Amino acid sequence: MNKKFITSDWKFTGVVYDQKKAMHRCDLCKGKNLRYQYEIVSSLGEVKRVGSSCILKFQVKFSFPNSDFLITEQDKRKYLHRIAKRLTDRENFKLATQSLEKLIQADDKIEDDFPLKQYRKKQKLGPKFLNFLFWRFKANNIQIERNWFNLDLSTKKRKEEFYDLLDFQALGLAKCNGFQSSVMEEYIKHNKAKQENA
Ligand SMILES: [Zn+2]
Repeated sequence: MNKKFITSDWKFTGVVYDQKKAMHRCDLCKGKNLRYQYEIVSSLGEVKRVGSSCILKFQVKFSFPNSDFLITEQDKRKYLHRIAKRLTDRENFKLATQSLEKLIQADDKIEDDFPLKQYRKKQKLGPKFLNFLFWRFKANNIQIERNWFNLDLSTKKRKEEFYDLLDFQALGLAKCNGFQSSVMEEYIKHNKAKQENA
């Protein structure tokens, strides 16, 4: 820890960098393997990028757009978490829509830009449709990460679509954003019941 560092001189600017890979450093403690870096600025205008534990540990002041008030440690954590998540969500949405654009170009089985329109509109897709798209990504050799995509399990109908999937399909969708482990527990129960009735 740098002893000369006077925390009261520094403020959090509200800017967070999502470096995608957890291999970046904190300017204060030299801690490694950070994915998110939080920007702080001194009263002299010096800028540093620090990790989430330093920004809390050093009690850097938080300045919100219109105010500068005291908030609890817990509020700070929540706030940092929320902006980091918002960044990740935004980036994932971009990657998901870009890969859908590629797929629509490449795939003969997809006749128009319906998947892209749908994803832009709802920002999530049901199990059946998403499973179909994952199959087509694979068939067209388009590299994706499943966690770029938001899975819609918000209604009974969507959950039931999930229970109808095959094991490997269900496991594939479990990597999506928005997946709920309770739905997998139900899936297992449903499939057991199916086998017993067969
Ligand atoms: Zn640090």
